[in-house]
Amino acid sequence: MTADKILKLKREKNAVILAHYYTRPEVQEVADFVGDSLALSERAAATDADTILFAGVYFMAETAKILSPDKKVLIPDPEAGCSLAASCPAPEFAAFRDKHPDAVVVSYVNTTADIKALTDICCTSTNALDVIKSIPADQPVIFAPDRNLGAYLQKQTGRTNMILWDGACHVHEEFSLEGIIALKKQYPGAPVLAHPECREPILTVADFVGSTSAILNHAGINPADTFIVVTEPGIMHEMKKKYPQKTFIPAPPLDSTCACNDCAYMKLVTLPKILDALENERPEVTVPEHIRIAAEKSIRNMLDIKC
Ligand code: SF4
Repeated sequence: MTADKILKLKREKNAVILAHYYTRPEVQEVADFVGDSLALSERAAATDADTILFAGVYFMAETAKILSPDKKVLIPDPEAGCSLAASCPAPEFAAFRDKHPDAVVVSYVNTTADIKALTDICCTSTNALDVIKSIPADQPVIFAPDRNLGAYLQKQTGRTNMILWDGACHVHEEFSLEGIIALKKQYPGAPVLAHPECREPILTVADFVGSTSAILNHAGINPADTFIVVTEPGIMHEMKKKYPQKTFIPAPPLDSTCACNDCAYMKLVTLPKILDALENERPEVTVPEHIRIAAEKSIRNMLDIKC
């Protein structure tokens, strides 16, 4: 079986498999560690394996390479991009940054290495609030690339000096408000758990707003037995494993012909591609050293902030 071959090869090559919560269930099952962007960054920085196979999208594998330059970092499918990272091209962002020379630049980790190199402090949805609060209140902040998360942070902190880049994730932008309201009527009492990358009207009807790992934790703490989940549905594999007695209902997308809102990029990662990458030790992720050094600083600045 493919999964058995992967586990054997992983041991032989002293490789570690890091997988994001949004990948396919069978991919999560062969991973040494499954987590959200922050936890995966921390694992990538701390591993003593020779090889990191990153079961996720390209910017995540790049982040692993930035933090562990001496390790071989493999990505099962280099076409696994990210619509949010793609919404923030480096030349345009550099020009945007130059217009606001007094601002501290905070970028979500969902960006390319080039954007991280133009950033002062990275953040994830788990620690974004702490990162923004760590910056003096009178200091302007550029926040990129997710406009919805940026607007949510503005609201939470009351800051009026945040300058937002106009980017978005296609998955979290495209949940149906009407569909969620219909589910609330169908399951009265089921809390709506939403990711802050969702549009503001969606967050308004949510009972809890938090990062992927915060949503996962909240589902355990909240005594309800049924939840409406408004983020990429891959997380439900871990939710069902952790809380088998509870029911999780994926929020519907705007496109009524689809049952749920999958991230097409995350789903490109499959077991055969993982096996192939381990066997052939490619595709390998590389980052030019001058970019890596600058990008590492912004990620380390994030990791140094205690939440
Ligand atoms: S869910 Fe959105 S932010 Fe996450 S990898 Fe997919 S496109 Fe990018």
